[in-house]
Amino acid sequence: MIRSLLLALVLLMAAALPAAASGNDEYFPEYSGDQFQAIYDHAVETTLANLDPPGGQVSITGNADVDARIWRIAFDRGYLLRPVANGGLVSVDGVQMQPEAAAAWKQLRAEARAAGYRFIVSSAYRSPNMQRTWFNTKLSGTSDDAINTALTWYSIPGTSKHHSGYALDFRHRNETFGSFRDTPDYAWLAANNFSIPKTYGFIPSYPDDGSAQGPSPEPWEFVWVGVDAIRCGVPMDVSESRFAMAHRSWLADDVVACSGGVTLDELDEMIRTLGPKLGALLRA
Ligand SMILES: [Zn+2]
Repeated sequence: MIRSLLLALVLLMAAALPAAASGNDEYFPEYSGDQFQAIYDHAVETTLANLDPPGGQVSITGNADVDARIWRIAFDRGYLLRPVANGGLVSVDGVQMQPEAAAAWKQLRAEARAAGYRFIVSSAYRSPNMQRTWFNTKLSGTSDDAINTALTWYSIPGTSKHHSGYALDFRHRNETFGSFRDTPDYAWLAANNFSIPKTYGFIPSYPDDGSAQGPSPEPWEFVWVGVDAIRCGVPMDVSESRFAMAHRSWLADDVVACSGGVTLDELDEMIRTLGPKLGALLRA
């Protein structure tokens, strides 16, 4: 009964939302930062190819006490153990990435160049061992403060989305590290809830309004999840409202094409049957 009521509540809230604006011919819902995170998490669990499941908590500094504090602070910040590419990477612009991400990047790059934007990919696939080396060079001490400062910018081995080969860092030619948000290139990418990257299957990796996502927001990092994943959101699960609200595609005409989605007919039926029950409960 509780599940039914929650379902009805979520459906009614979603049905009350206005249809999402579309910056392109494709229909793409607008998403919040947490919804973008949910879409990526769902894509690595269900559709993205060439991935091994996440590994465990590996050694970082070689000091067990320091490592334990690093892991604790990292998890408190929202870092997660992430899947790792298991082969098949291709080289584009001097970096390794997944084939589908590479094909999409070439298309996005072509549209960017045609519009006068020259940003490049500065980093894509990184192994956990590479990430360990990188993190250790950025760790300036072993205090909790030093650990937290490093984790503001750099993932620890096993938790980077770069391990998947689906995450790309963009960089403006004249940019100093961390200032991509201030470039016209970022403004072009971010316009209309990232409508141009969405067209090619990319979404922001650590958006400005994401909560507890590990590092501070990283406007330069994008992840490829595929166009279908963006159009469909994630399947509704009434036990997890964040995922439920991310799934906006029931309002789209092509909702039937989204596996695990709810058709418009099903939505109508649920509202018709469950809506009055919810109303009765609220009036009681
Ligand atoms: Zn990155």
